[in-house]
Amino acid sequence: METVDGVVVIGGGPVGLLTALKLGRAGIRVVVLEAEAGVSPSPRAVAYMPPTAAALDRFGLLEDIRQRAVWCPEFAYRHGDGSLITMMKWDAVASDTAYPYMLLLGQNHVSNIIVSHLRTLPNVDIRWNHRVESVDQDESYVTIATNGPGGVTRLRCRFVAATDGARSTVREKIGATFDGFTWPERLVASNVFYDFNLHGYSRANFVHDPVDWAVVVQLDQSGIWRVCYGEDPNLTEAEVRQRLPERFKRLLPGAPTPDRYRVDHLNPYRVHQRCAAEFRLGRVILAGDAAHATNPMGGLGLSGGVLDAEHLGEALVAVIKQSAPMSVLDEYANDRRKVFLEFTSPTATANFTWMKERDPAQRARDAEMLIKVGSDREQMRGMLNDFERLNGRRFAEPQRLAA
Ligand SMILES: Cc1cc2nc3c(=O)[nH]c(=O)nc-3n(C[C@H](O)[C@H](O)[C@H](O)COP(=O)(O)OP(=O)(O)OC[C@H]3O[C@@H](n4cnc5c(N)ncnc54)[C@H](O)[C@@H]3O)c2cc1C
Repeated sequence: METVDGVVVIGGGPVGLLTALKLGRAGIRVVVLEAEAGVSPSPRAVAYMPPTAAALDRFGLLEDIRQRAVWCPEFAYRHGDGSLITMMKWDAVASDTAYPYMLLLGQNHVSNIIVSHLRTLPNVDIRWNHRVESVDQDESYVTIATNGPGGVTRLRCRFVAATDGARSTVREKIGATFDGFTWPERLVASNVFYDFNLHGYSRANFVHDPVDWAVVVQLDQSGIWRVCYGEDPNLTEAEVRQRLPERFKRLLPGAPTPDRYRVDHLNPYRVHQRCAAEFRLGRVILAGDAAHATNPMGGLGLSGGVLDAEHLGEALVAVIKQSAPMSVLDEYANDRRKVFLEFTSPTATANFTWMKERDPAQRARDAEMLIKVGSDREQMRGMLNDFERLNGRRFAEPQRLAA
């Protein structure tokens, strides 16, 4: 059996790759085990908040990401007919953060950029096509069985970073429950070539409507946009595709016929508000969607996951390289769980509830509240600064370790 003298990261999504980058740069031996053959092209995260841009800068990735990303200085709330409710402008927080903007870029591009940085580290080994099937631990080691191109292999290591997504096998194997609920709606994420600029759309738009609610976001600089909307959960994927022309006629400004747009990718998803009961069990520590899952209204899932990766990486570096006590791993676990339960999940839940509110009187009150925030710079500043709560507390700060 192979022994990895370092950390095994299970799941090569963006959170696992970033964790590997943090550890690899600190000189720790890392093996990433990823079930798929490469970075997934599925349309998922696209928008990242200011504290996430700050973390990506600390990872040394921001410049590469900004070269491909769309820089988004504001976002719009709209009614179902496309008319504007109000705009939120990130320059309201220009005196509070060096990153007063949202970054827009498909998460597959973000992952590919991280992979290109990992390739420069000889101590990091990414093993694609390696699906983890079992995880067992004792006081000293974690033993992992994977099914890969050479059949089933076993390896052991001191620590596992479990970043294998919302349906985490690792979470299940270590017996952590994933408490919360699944939303009744099916979310459809589509990438589409269509000229939203022509219709006065902002680069990021939240459309509030009881039926035709949607998030419309410019994806990159090639003219492709993300349209995320709700569908009947009982439809098959083929039926979702069949209904697309009818739905896009109502969802897209200008009521276009199919010859006026081109759909590049389309994926239906179930969405959840769920959180693992514990983020650390012994030598296995959860991060990203394996630890918590949220609906994507407001772009908080990966935005928070990037910070999980940074904090988990720092905590593991402190334990492995700086003889910090194992309790810093509990500090990581407790703090990131708190951030999710007290900020991410309630904020994303409120965003989703507003967007699809059915009661006209409540919708009018919500719009009135948004207009009030949008027309008062101090209130807007307060609302936008709230995203800083994604940061939680940093771990393994040098002065604390030295003490
Ligand atoms: C439609 C949609 C839009 C979204 N938009 C945003 C947004 O704008 N902003 C935002 O911040 N977030 C957004 N999110 C959320 C974001 O996509 C997730 O938070 C993010 O993917 C989490 O990254 P991760 O690395 O933790 O997990 P994942 O991306 O799910 O990666 C997990 C990896 O583990 C691998 N894996 C799974 N099981 C195993 C196994 N047994 N062995 C080995 N490997 C395994 C998988 O193949 C996968 O590569 C959105 C999500 C959806 C669905």
